[in-house]
Amino acid sequence: MTARTPVVPYLPFARPSIDEETIAGVVEVLRSGWIASGPNVLKFEQALSEYHEGRPARVVTSATAALELALQVAGVGPGAEVITSAMSFFAAPNMIVKVGAKPVFVDCDLITRNIDFDQVEASITPRTRAIMPTHFAGLPVDMERLYAIAHKYGLRVIEDAALAIGSRWRGQRIGAFGDLVALSFHPNKNMTTIEGGALLMSDAAEVRLFEKLRFHGIVRLPDGTRDVDVAGGKFNLPDVNARIGLAQLARLEEFNAARRVLAGRYFANLRTDPQCVLPAHAYAGEEEGHSWNMFCVLLPLERLDITRRQFIEAMHARGIGIGISYEALHLTTLCRGFGYREGDYPNAERIARETATLPLFPAMSAGDVDRVCQAVAEVLAGARR
Ligand SMILES: *Cc1c(COP(=O)(O)O)cnc(C)c1O
Repeated sequence: MTARTPVVPYLPFARPSIDEETIAGVVEVLRSGWIASGPNVLKFEQALSEYHEGRPARVVTSATAALELALQVAGVGPGAEVITSAMSFFAAPNMIVKVGAKPVFVDCDLITRNIDFDQVEASITPRTRAIMPTHFAGLPVDMERLYAIAHKYGLRVIEDAALAIGSRWRGQRIGAFGDLVALSFHPNKNMTTIEGGALLMSDAAEVRLFEKLRFHGIVRLPDGTRDVDVAGGKFNLPDVNARIGLAQLARLEEFNAARRVLAGRYFANLRTDPQCVLPAHAYAGEEEGHSWNMFCVLLPLERLDITRRQFIEAMHARGIGIGISYEALHLTTLCRGFGYREGDYPNAERIARETATLPLFPAMSAGDVDRVCQAVAEVLAGARR
């Protein structure tokens, strides 16, 4: 008899946790006959609002939609400039350009990967209308610094909190305070609705405008007919998705706690020669503050004779998925059109070259983390110059 090697399942870098209760809930919604936006959307918005200390929450089909509508709600349009980080996902600069404004990039910190506020202040001009920072991988930006600058210069803030639901700053949840805050429920995020997103707001008139912008600009008249006074799009979330969101939100604290434990195990067990640059821990005393959507390391490529592409392939061959988060935003073809070039933002460019996202999702085991750590160590040792 020959010994069979056990089949080790492929470990993707992200995977949602969908339980049987959720599946049953979705079936119930499908059978109810009301599958577009309806009672579950209202319940989900109520639950999101409660989770964020009563701030109004409105759901849409993605965080990208939430960012676009947030810019419109904030009155950002042609001629305006919006300051944003060169290291984040494409959605932020795309939506800034889409509403007719100019993305003004600033560099990020190499370790936190969050926007560099010294450069933010230096980039403000009379055309600046808003700052759009990302809480990278779930680590909050310095919220005191952010809102101090916004107040000093009279700027709106649109937080890209796609990766940061459940993160905290000085004990308060991200989204529970501040200006406009966008959340994502994409399957790779800390909770999912398949696709989906939300915006947290404060001002009742802005909530009404947001509702119009997400659904055809429609207002209902007393005589039962409808009017349109703004060219709204169609971004309403279906009830099926909202039902998934309700179940996911109920488990979010559990999911984030699991993520924190797994991230801690990476810090404890990821030992490589040559060394990787590890991400920032949560801020001192704020271990609960980081939602750990991703664990992104910088590969020591200058001391290796493989490329990142080859590293990713070697990990894939060991049954482990690796992501890239993210490319440098100022170097997309779209943003080069505004005159941005290589060398403008060295930290973002270095992160874009060297970053690798290791698997991290709530259903992973401690053994899975150890397996990733061992595989990374082996691949890097084998490629050392
Ligand atoms: C995922 C993500 C988005 C986009 O979210 P969608 O819901 O897919 O539109 C925006 N910003 C950041 C930082 C993200 O990680």
